[in-house]
Amino acid sequence: MKSFSQQLQESLADRQSQGLYRQRKTITSPQSTEVIVNDKLLVNFCSNDYLGLANHPEVVTACKEGIDRYGVGSGASHLVVGHSHAHHALEEELADFTGRSRALLFSSGYMANVGTLTALVNKNDCIYEDKLNHASLLDGGIFSGAKFKRYPHLNIAKLSELIGNKPESENTFIVSDGVFSMDGDCAELPRLIDVAKNNQAQLVLDDAHGFGVLGRNGGGLIKYYQECGHYIDEENLPVVIGTLGKAFGTQGAFVVGSEALIENLIQFCRPYIYTTAISPALAEASRTSLKLIKKEQWRREKLQALIKTFRIRCAELGFALTNSMTPIQGLIIGNAEKSLEASRLLENEGIYVTAIRPPTVPKGTARLRITFSANHTEEQLAVLLLALEKIQPRITLEEVNVSG
Ligand SMILES: *Cc1c(COP(=O)(O)O)cnc(C)c1O
Repeated sequence: MKSFSQQLQESLADRQSQGLYRQRKTITSPQSTEVIVNDKLLVNFCSNDYLGLANHPEVVTACKEGIDRYGVGSGASHLVVGHSHAHHALEEELADFTGRSRALLFSSGYMANVGTLTALVNKNDCIYEDKLNHASLLDGGIFSGAKFKRYPHLNIAKLSELIGNKPESENTFIVSDGVFSMDGDCAELPRLIDVAKNNQAQLVLDDAHGFGVLGRNGGGLIKYYQECGHYIDEENLPVVIGTLGKAFGTQGAFVVGSEALIENLIQFCRPYIYTTAISPALAEASRTSLKLIKKEQWRREKLQALIKTFRIRCAELGFALTNSMTPIQGLIIGNAEKSLEASRLLENEGIYVTAIRPPTVPKGTARLRITFSANHTEEQLAVLLLALEKIQPRITLEEVNVSG
């Protein structure tokens, strides 16, 4: 029999031989459109800091002042003695921002998703999830013990069909990303709401990448659809999750919804109850981020301008992009090794873009996940596009010449 240490070695060797080995790179500069990676200065096109707030002077100052007022650590969980005025005020401001009755802060989006689903969904329920949902939503669905089904990405017809034939259950849940994290495309919220309504299902939306980026004042995908005239409220979309580590540029996450929903989470959500509250200083930083998100529409306009130029030029070059109006742009390469190679070649050109490979994305859809920030300059975008043009012959699979 193999020893445990042999098993560990072999699993790594396997991973390596599949071109799926993951390695971390060490950053020694602030999060920005330029970062120092392994001692090299690179233009950064892989951060989720879409609005450029992670190192914004006002956000930094708010955090420092938070430390002066509260110290560094929160000292305990929210239900013991860790729930500061900073956390409380942020919750009230997030509820107001999203137009919902209440908000609850979590230490991370992963915990918010796993915690919310396991608290609300039980083994007598059915849960339907988009196949490309974030891992934390899929994990939460599995951990809940409910009957669990994934529907093909964005395929509402298939979802309707599945849910129409669903087995006997207490409650039914439909769970979706708002903006999908690896493709940048969006859920068709009004259609999801219809399916939920027609099947007495509860809809859960995780808009981690939509808040701050989409809609007037950065209200996210919900706001985007409301502006198109759709009616969305706590009744037809009862559970909404957002994170603070993306456009907010800070850390943590939140769930918003009715009074009863939030009180249930406070009572029963284990990843909420049994963990130390995030630093109050970070909550202060998030409060300042939120003010900037609401106020500075130019950040969203700038992003849209960058995205437009990027997509037009990529189409001219013949690259396959995901169907995305958001700062997440997937440049599909297909093969995992080729994607890694593309990332390496871009690094030689002074550009940092990570290759995303299975199992994070489906087999055969390995890609460069290129993300934009409102702080990117036109010049930085031009450098990226030139580099992509230069490396193109080396990253597209050679066509077999059948006629020859
Ligand atoms: C990043 C992300 C999460 C996890 O949030 P963290 O705060 O990083 O744990 C959850 N859902 C989606 C859709 C995400 O993109």
